Amino acid sequence: MALIPHFIAGERVEDAARTQPVFNPATGAEQHEVAVASAETVERAIAAAQRALPAWRKTSLTKRADVFFNLRQLLKQRTPELAAIVTSEHGKVLSDAAGEIARGLENVEFASGLMQLLKGERDEQVSTGVDVHSVKQPVGVVAAITPFNFPVMVPLWMIASAIACGNTVVLKPSERDPSASLFIAELFREAGLPDGVLNVVQGDKVAVDTLLDSPVVKAVSFVGSTPIARSIYQRASANGKRVQALGGAKNHMLVLPDADIDMTADAAVSAAYGSAGERCMAVSVVVAVGDSADRLIPAIQDRIKNLTIGDGTDPASEMGPLITAEARERVASYVAGAADEGATVVVDGREQHFDGNGFFIGVSLIDHVQADSKVYRDEIFGPVLAVVRVDTYEEGVQLINDHQYGNGTAIFTRDGGAARQFEFEVEAGMVGINVPIPVPVGSFSFGGWKDSLFGDTHIYGPESVHFYTRSKVVTTRWPDPESSQVDLGFPSNH
Ligand code: NAD
Repeated sequence: MALIPHFIAGERVEDAARTQPVFNPATGAEQHEVAVASAETVERAIAAAQRALPAWRKTSLTKRADVFFNLRQLLKQRTPELAAIVTSEHGKVLSDAAGEIARGLENVEFASGLMQLLKGERDEQVSTGVDVHSVKQPVGVVAAITPFNFPVMVPLWMIASAIACGNTVVLKPSERDPSASLFIAELFREAGLPDGVLNVVQGDKVAVDTLLDSPVVKAVSFVGSTPIARSIYQRASANGKRVQALGGAKNHMLVLPDADIDMTADAAVSAAYGSAGERCMAVSVVVAVGDSADRLIPAIQDRIKNLTIGDGTDPASEMGPLITAEARERVASYVAGAADEGATVVVDGREQHFDGNGFFIGVSLIDHVQADSKVYRDEIFGPVLAVVRVDTYEEGVQLINDHQYGNGTAIFTRDGGAARQFEFEVEAGMVGINVPIPVPVGSFSFGGWKDSLFGDTHIYGPESVHFYTRSKVVTTRWPDPESSQVDLGFPSNH
């Protein structure tokens, strides 16, 4: 069985004291082993990144930009190949995998504008004969730790900007679908990135802890579940590093009675069940105001009947399996417990039969979900849509604002005033108005509020340039030495 290796200083490294199986979720079969890094292997990757740093820092901005222009072309050309890798290890359907690559490309395109992004500021004559300017310099070696659900897009959220800003990187992808990161690292190399600027270590907590504790690593970007995000934030910041740690979500879609029901049902089904609900911006709760639920639920049921669930490589499939057998059991247990929590299971995904040993489950729709139930409070991360009924808009917004997560949210309405009010008062980092999954385009930054993000900087886009650089402010004067004298007073700006 092939071993998925690390990638250090431009080479594949098969350093595997331990290994872990990588499954094809559509068949349930183990297809590869992935190397699980020891602390020594991670130290080796950190050392490679440290060695590559001085030369990469000195590389001209035009040469750096060249890498991203080349990478953009390569990623476009190789999209079918990379999408097939994603589908074989993650399970999402091929079109969805290609979609994730396209969204990741936005970050590459953003990074290729690095000349503009890294511009400093200058102020002339701030005091007589004195000028001030600022520059943005890299922070050094940075760590990128990513989840299973977007094995291409989320690494690109981090590494494109980090590298463009002159840093070197150690990427620790998810051990569940590790091949995509290796493919990306080799594509970067083909695009002209010098060896050691981007290193990949495969592994688990041992690798992550080594990165968090290394004094060489200056900044940590993490995306994953909330308990891990919280602990990463605490450990890395206690070690004096910059940290951005994005966590889990429970994204609410508020439906007002005036919303177009067909359009809203299309959006709810797409956003709840796309990628089997394994998206951090998936809609997992519909908050239906007034009588909207009575019209929306049958419309959603109609659409569910027509969904095709199957192997992601089959062009007819609209939804694939879950990532692991454990994930499927976990999702099933929430559906099993829903009725006891006072909800009505309208469609039970456990009842759908699938041939073979893939990690498939059908989609579920649960009505009359109570705000104090586990189905409502927890991130299920599967194809389960909960419907909470409320009487008023105010009650709906209050529910959303009281939830521990604040990643994305959306309102569906034809009323511009209500939409504006929602934007103003809702407590979430990303808001959609008649848009169910409002993932910002690459020229903006992505991030949630509350337990969906630890740290104060959002990921990719302009905030990433801030995160991956240190600013230096330089004050300059060129006085006539003849006029020089000792002056113990505090310098004032006259
Ligand atoms: P996860 O937290 O289990 O794993 C994320 C990363 O952390 C992986 O690289 C994993 O190897 C590592 N890890 C796991 N346990 C660890 C530990 N104890 N110590 C140190 N490192 C550890 O998340 P996942 O299951 O891979 O991904 C799904 C989660 O990610 C969901 O909660 C989802 O909402 C979240 N997510 C959030 C966003 C966002 O932008 N906010 C985006 C994508 C996914």
